[in-house]
Amino acid sequence: MLFHELNRAKCKTYLLADEPSHQAVLIDPVKERVDRYIAILGYHGCRLEFVIDTHTHADHRSGVWDLRDLTGARVVMHRQAPEPHVDVHVEDGQELTLGEARLRFLYTPGHTPDGVSICVADRVFTGDTLLIHGTGRADFAGGDAGAQYDAIIDKLFVLPDETLVFPAHDYRGHTHSTIGEEKRANPRLAGRSRADYVTLMNNLGLPLPDKVQEALQANQCAIDDESMQFPSLAQLSQVRQVSVQELQSRRRGEAAPLLLDVREPDEFWGDLGHIAGSKLIPLHQLSERAAELGDDKERDIVVICRAGVRSGTAAALLTGLGFDNVSNLKGGILEWNDAGFPVEH
Ligand code: FE
Repeated sequence: MLFHELNRAKCKTYLLADEPSHQAVLIDPVKERVDRYIAILGYHGCRLEFVIDTHTHADHRSGVWDLRDLTGARVVMHRQAPEPHVDVHVEDGQELTLGEARLRFLYTPGHTPDGVSICVADRVFTGDTLLIHGTGRADFAGGDAGAQYDAIIDKLFVLPDETLVFPAHDYRGHTHSTIGEEKRANPRLAGRSRADYVTLMNNLGLPLPDKVQEALQANQCAIDDESMQFPSLAQLSQVRQVSVQELQSRRRGEAAPLLLDVREPDEFWGDLGHIAGSKLIPLHQLSERAAELGDDKERDIVVICRAGVRSGTAAALLTGLGFDNVSNLKGGILEWNDAGFPVEH
């Protein structure tokens, strides 16, 4: 197995290649460094099969989309990932083959709702769930310190002690650790109960990273348009949320809301389907096509997307355009499907 960390920086990107078949995968590529990745793939004569984001990143723009465009590699993320255009959605325990190698995915949320770790041979890529003598912060939107503790204890710390640990970040110059070392000496985890861990993580008081707003929302929406104006965190936090159950009962009532689906057409017509009667306007066209929603700014509108993230952005944008009764379908069409409510294809 060919193995390199390619960034030589705090933010890690890993190249793995099966040498007999020359099939390669990149884990957590960074947009600014795509040229470097293409060069090293060429140097080793590798074909890029998969590009994987271990989670939706808040600190940098993802390179997976540019790499897919340039090489035809398939983008892999967890089922809960909000991005459009993900080619392979993985769930806990799922495997992908890379020549003679196997990539086994573990669902390890907490830092974000869409976090995965990847086991390959003698090592595990832990994203920002488990870091070297640390853990990824759990205070971004959708973060959950309890879920993170459970993922680390139940999914990662059950791996053999000698398993090598490669995280998505390291701030102190480490390159790797082992599961045994982290069990013994990780200061956030060793000797701490779940309740202790949650209290600790909820009181870290860390500042937000630079450009968190631009990077996170642009990644969530996979939008490359520099002119796109994303709503602020304050605007996002004011968006009213409706549950799938509440929407289903309101659809049956007299004043049924206008359903606005902001996914891409291939998603709208794809496996997850859409709610009957929904109007489709992809998020990146919303500002220019808002007139199609009519002049009635009091109209009740529920915005829908895959996981309820892009639609939150859309709802905040519409509120900014003067629509007064916009809400967001919490959990999106994924949760609507999981609840067993009907969709059209
Ligand atoms: Fe992260």
